[in-house]
Amino acid sequence: MTLPRLRAALDDVPEYRAGRPAADGAYKVSSNENPYPPLPSVVEAMAAAIGSLNRYPDFAGAELTAALAERFSVRSDEIGLGTGSVGVAQQLVQSTAGPGDEVLFAWRSFEAYPIITQIAGATSVRVPLLAERHDLPAMLAAITDRTRLIFVCNPNNPTGTAVHGNELEHFLDAVPADVLVVVDEAYTEFVTDPDVPDGMELRRGRPSVAVLRTFSKAYGLASLRVGFVVADASVAAAVRKTAVPFGVSTLAQVAALASLAAEPELLERVAVLAAERDRLRAGLLALGFDVPDSQANFVWLPLGERSDAFAAGCAAAGVVVRSFSPTGVRITAAEPAATDLVLKVAADF
Ligand code: PMP
Repeated sequence: MTLPRLRAALDDVPEYRAGRPAADGAYKVSSNENPYPPLPSVVEAMAAAIGSLNRYPDFAGAELTAALAERFSVRSDEIGLGTGSVGVAQQLVQSTAGPGDEVLFAWRSFEAYPIITQIAGATSVRVPLLAERHDLPAMLAAITDRTRLIFVCNPNNPTGTAVHGNELEHFLDAVPADVLVVVDEAYTEFVTDPDVPDGMELRRGRPSVAVLRTFSKAYGLASLRVGFVVADASVAAAVRKTAVPFGVSTLAQVAALASLAAEPELLERVAVLAAERDRLRAGLLALGFDVPDSQANFVWLPLGERSDAFAAGCAAAGVVVRSFSPTGVRITAAEPAATDLVLKVAADF
């Protein structure tokens, strides 16, 4: 039987492995989700918008874009929206790279990078982490005249490690001016180390730097799928061109707007989660585990071949963590009871 001919580039695209769902009553700390439900004010805004779902959303997301422009002191034409920041990341790759071009990133890092690169027909260049951190000098050395986009995931998923302002500025100043550098700050709100830079400040005066953000993590809107990039107007325009038309739903737009209005309340929750992350890490360190400093809402246990066994032990105890066998295990900081269970499993491991 003859089947439709598909692009060969898709043949070995790995499937995105989402964190495993939790069984009834188990804690799910496998997907870096926020354990808190949306705030009542955010739910109210969405409820008020439900009656208009027969209409298409605002194509440009004008109100949300204007609110983001004000929040980050940029112009509206420097903002591009998408269906989650992974959607925006894909738009950025499609805007810059195709067959023969290279997309450079650290590895291990966010697992969508190689997938969206391959879908675009471009080539992934992975630069190994050094002691669980971005090796920026090695990344610089890996740039070729085919490099079109570089992802710097700060803090890095899944290791939680973050590069500091001075190293990142040195890196940005050394990258050729026509190569787009995307600083993926999906977890930036959880950063407590003052040496970790705010990409929004780093990009001022550096038109090749784009800063990727999301409402999925700190703002707790993972299911709504809304993320954005702040970039040079030429890059933001390309992101708008490559967007799925009407991809950011009305509910996502109103919830994101309401979340910006409720930012102080949401950031209180973020502070609680950052403290929970530190408690989880301190507990694991006290048990003798090697745990890199995390600036995100999760910690990384480089357990190597023992990763699956640790994840299985957690699952048996009622908490689902994410194994990246044979490298390590990622555990999201969420409910204190989940932390307690993980620490108990770790103590017996
Ligand atoms: N960037 C990083 C580093 C992530 O870890 C994630 C989520 N796993 C994303 C982007 C995408 O998140 P979203 O599409 O929900 O914004």
